[in-house]
Amino acid sequence: MSDRYRVGLGEDSHRLVRARPLILGGVRIPYEYGLAGHSDADVVLHAVADALLGAAGLGDIGELFPDRDPTYKDVESTVLLADVLDRVRQAGWQPVNVDLVIHAQRPSLSEYKPKIQQRIAELLGIPANAVGVKAKTGEGVGPVGRGEVIRCHAVVLVRTTDNQATDAEASG
Ligand code: MG
Repeated sequence: MSDRYRVGLGEDSHRLVRARPLILGGVRIPYEYGLAGHSDADVVLHAVADALLGAAGLGDIGELFPDRDPTYKDVESTVLLADVLDRVRQAGWQPVNVDLVIHAQRPSLSEYKPKIQQRIAELLGIPANAVGVKAKTGEGVGPVGRGEVIRCHAVVLVRTTDNQATDAEASG
């Protein structure tokens, strides 16, 4: 019998630089620094996308959207995540819940966590209470603590779509 549920893990980090917008989980956050990257460098959506791809056994976003490819220059990560979600659904999986930890020394993310939660829920088509958003500082040490990078870890659970479940049962 085929799996009904699978889990996936994603991790990403990007450097903080001047003259870039800070976008986390599809939400624009006012700050004097933003994240460097080929796309909009949304570490949260990149981690979520990799977790989804991992759960579905579909590789990673570096393979699907190479940073050598000018197509993805400054692309919004919401577009990349939508593409990933399409692939995951075509492979017969749908997200159940996501839990993530954002590691950022600054800015304080407490007031933005509900917005990020809501945005990710919309993007994945799941209830807001199926999205966990936690924020941690780097305690002043390491690349996060020195304010050099923002990092995100995400874990996602997927389950078979009804179609695939039926197929799996039909084939025994
Ligand atoms: Mg990235």
